[in-house]
Amino acid sequence: MGTFTKSAGVSINYTILAQVKTIYRTFQFELQPTQEQKVLLDKHFGCIRYVFNHFLNERKEQYQAGNKSDNYYAQAAALTELKKQEETSWLKEVNSQSLQFALRCLDTAYVNFFRGNAKFPRFKSRKKKNTFTVPQFAKLRDGRFYAPKFKEGIKVTVHREVKGEIGKCILSKTPTGKYFVSILSEEQYQPKEKTGAVCGIDLGLKDFAVTSDGIRFKNNKYTKHYERKLAKAQEHLSRKTKGSNSFEKQRRKTALIHGKITNSRMDNLHQVSHKLVSDFDLIALEDLDVKGMVKNPKLAKHISDASWGTFVRFLEYKADWNDRQIVKINRWYPSSKTCCECGWINQDLNLSIREWTCKNGHVLDRDLNAAKNILKEGLKIYGQGLSITRVERKSDFGNKAHAMKPEAHPIAFGVGGQFTIA
Ligand SMILES: [Zn+2]
Repeated sequence: MGTFTKSAGVSINYTILAQVKTIYRTFQFELQPTQEQKVLLDKHFGCIRYVFNHFLNERKEQYQAGNKSDNYYAQAAALTELKKQEETSWLKEVNSQSLQFALRCLDTAYVNFFRGNAKFPRFKSRKKKNTFTVPQFAKLRDGRFYAPKFKEGIKVTVHREVKGEIGKCILSKTPTGKYFVSILSEEQYQPKEKTGAVCGIDLGLKDFAVTSDGIRFKNNKYTKHYERKLAKAQEHLSRKTKGSNSFEKQRRKTALIHGKITNSRMDNLHQVSHKLVSDFDLIALEDLDVKGMVKNPKLAKHISDASWGTFVRFLEYKADWNDRQIVKINRWYPSSKTCCECGWINQDLNLSIREWTCKNGHVLDRDLNAAKNILKEGLKIYGQGLSITRVERKSDFGNKAHAMKPEAHPIAFGVGGQFTIA
């Protein structure tokens, strides 16, 4: 509920209840299979690879012979025949739906190639990451992951609650021998109510993020804690003889801490992005060239630690679920150097200066000032974006950028003084 005041001074009450929508989430967890389960998992990877390569080869040969090849249905029928033959009867030991799914993937890859959207499908290699898909009937209960052919369930570390109905699951094995499951869930989601608030955020190294209204999100302290542990564990590992039992034990310990760092980092990113999307209808931030910055050796470690790229991705899809706006501003816009009060630009500002005073005497906190500028610029861009769409659609309006009534879009124009920038 809220009130927007029209320019004529008439107040209207409104209730916007966004419609429930279907959203998809992915959850990834590490599996701890028993020796027996590892064998069965490896059989799945092997059979999937076999089926994919066998039918890819078949298509290639058919195509070379006559410029056309079997489609999914013809190949699925051929797969059934293949299982009946004695020399390939081991295909029956694995989940049949997973095998069919491999054929579907092959079909999609083929279609994409012929539409010019992708390269020609490549044969699957044992040395790369091994995967197979469980399209249906997977379950998660009491710390175990259940799928067809895995009746006992595989032990799994669930560090995030899985919301919604479990759909497709992808099981994988890394080249280092770890097993993971990626769970895709489908959820009927009620988008959050509008808040009427907007913010700019400055992503930094000292604090993880600072908002234009002065909220500071710290870097996760647990990550730091585990990092110290990791350094110690790696030092121990370096003193062991490679291949020995104690080396293997220490290697596993190190890998475990690595996993904890990743999980705690991700949890932090989820919490911060959730909070921001809950509180604000519009969030402005810099369009960061994370890849380019990681190339700078001085900043690389800090930036990959801060995981800005992942954070922005989280923010974007959560915004999408909740009908929030994310506005990215040009990365070259001088958000730190410009005084947010008067617009004076400080050419001498370097990374170490945390607080400065502008020519007109405004005392500025570096990150807060940047966040406020980012919001100003973000609102400007958002407003322009709307005007451009409007002009394009109704060309007879010419270049009257403000042909649109302000109240038609309260966020962009700050109707009723709700969006004034401090
Ligand atoms: Zn100033």
